[in-house]
Amino acid sequence: MGRRMGKAGRRPLVAGNWKMNGRRADGLALARAVVAGAGNIGAELLVCPPATLLASIGEALAGTAVALGAQDCHPAPSGAYTGDISAPMLADLGCRYVIVGHSERRAGHGESDALVRAKAEAALAAGLIAIVCLGETEAERDRGEAFAVVGRQLAGSLPEQANAANTVVAYEPIWAIGSGRTPTAGDIAGLHGHLRAELARRFADAAGFRLLYGGSVKPGNCNEILATADVDGALVGGASLKAEDFLAIARACP
Ligand code: PEP
Repeated sequence: MGRRMGKAGRRPLVAGNWKMNGRRADGLALARAVVAGAGNIGAELLVCPPATLLASIGEALAGTAVALGAQDCHPAPSGAYTGDISAPMLADLGCRYVIVGHSERRAGHGESDALVRAKAEAALAAGLIAIVCLGETEAERDRGEAFAVVGRQLAGSLPEQANAANTVVAYEPIWAIGSGRTPTAGDIAGLHGHLRAELARRFADAAGFRLLYGGSVKPGNCNEILATADVDGALVGGASLKAEDFLAIARACP
């Protein structure tokens, strides 16, 4: 099957966020299984293993249709930052993408919009594509603040240099991550439409940005989610740890 063009010419992206899962042997087996099933898929495929596996999986993915990404980067290119990994180091390993601002880092590591923006700037400077994550808590949603919260996160987390080629935005309502619950397709369409309108206030090529939905995407619910207006793919956590589930989601991209 040839390369599909998705909605309004935006090629869908299905990204697997493996989080802190995988030893060398099972990580390699998972990556190889994704590659083996990628042949007929028009969406762009991306796996984001833990940092410990980037080198070995990068070698396994070289020359395949599956791209390599990291889950985080430091804002500085190098220096005295014990335990951190810079964007140029990720690029050197063959990464094409890096996730920044995931809610688990915003919450667990106290990451602010300003820090996420600095990380995204570092990613772009290193030639990586930044996947910038946004999303409201359940309490914010219940108070009717979801649009305002994600609008604020978008404004604060996206660098001025962002454009449709170097930046992807992932909407991940925090209450939907790992919970088995998802917003309705109508809610996702409304939120993504809001994100695109906000992008249009700052970026001339707003119509080209890919907007991913993330939060409990599974083979059983992906058809409706991926068919939703302004959804250009998915950021997948738990289901990305099973090659068949991840590939089934990718196959569902219109
Ligand atoms: C995520 O954490 O990015 C995510 C979407 O997780 P899950 O698919 O497991 O909800």
